[in-house]
Amino acid sequence: MSTSKLIDGKAAAARVLQQVKQDVLDLKAEGIQPALAVILVGEDPASQVYVRNKILRAEECGIRSIEYRLGADCPQARLLELIAELNDDASVNGILLQLPLPRHIEETRALQAIAPGKDVDGFHSENVGGLSQGREVLTPCTPTGCIYLLEQTLGDLSGKHAVVVGRSNIVGKPMAALLLKAHCSVTVVHSRSRDAQALCRLADIVVAAVGRPRMIDASWLKPGAVVIDVGINRIQDGERSRLVGDVDFDSALPQVSAITPVPGGVGPMTIAFLMKNTLIAAQQQALANRQPKEAVCL
Ligand code: NDP
Repeated sequence: MSTSKLIDGKAAAARVLQQVKQDVLDLKAEGIQPALAVILVGEDPASQVYVRNKILRAEECGIRSIEYRLGADCPQARLLELIAELNDDASVNGILLQLPLPRHIEETRALQAIAPGKDVDGFHSENVGGLSQGREVLTPCTPTGCIYLLEQTLGDLSGKHAVVVGRSNIVGKPMAALLLKAHCSVTVVHSRSRDAQALCRLADIVVAAVGRPRMIDASWLKPGAVVIDVGINRIQDGERSRLVGDVDFDSALPQVSAITPVPGGVGPMTIAFLMKNTLIAAQQQALANRQPKEAVCL
């Protein structure tokens, strides 16, 4: 099997993290210690693993992490109170609220409570709106990581036709907005699209974020397309279970010019860009603190 077509997310993430580590050292030299607060509500086992990995990665980058664990029955008001405290705490640069939340907590309300400048997941409507207006804001980690991989693979994305399969708030929609910002022509395909396969076949770039194991095979792809597979699906393979993407990798490989594997493609990029967003938040807050306060005219 040719491996030259593989887009190596692990290596790309390591490069991003190495740069973050260096930039954190530069901030520390100015007396600034970047810090990320991670909030976990409840005991969801997968969320516990994600939170542990995020905290480990932060420590490796020299970012201070502060973990808040709230019980599954924690009242919404307590969570909002904690977020308000962290918003006001100048020593905290980024706030990450691990999803999903227990049912009794309104996800939108909780995410909207995070100060936009500390919203390292890029889910606050101020950041979502800023992205769609093409402003420099904190952007969601997974699609930002996908853009990084695409630019590493293709260079300038300007003028390419990109098809995004999926329109979720965390992946599909911000992915489309980022591709548009990179001057692509963008088509978004979803479960109501009439002929998703035919639309995909027109694309120079396909980003699959569906959550359906191996849905997209070679018959969906134009020869030479670049494919970014965001999907992470656990399937049963005989006795063992394993992870596969939304793209049928073996079928797609001969057809494409480059493709991300699952695992080892987009996955490592998400956490790398969480660290990068924490660094950006710390840098922006430091810049704002350095700017002279407006003179008060009496
Ligand atoms: P959602 O379930 O929120 O969204 C899935 C999207 O796919 C929806 O917009 C849906 O359309 C669309 N869809 C469903 N079926 C079809 C179909 N037959 N044809 C075309 N479109 C379809 O998923 P997420 O966006 O949260 O996640 C997508 C995948 O990415 C999952 O496998 C998830 O595990 C993975 N993921 C990976 C991350 C990483 O770090 N690598 C991070 C986040 C997610 P409609 O809106 O019409 O229902």
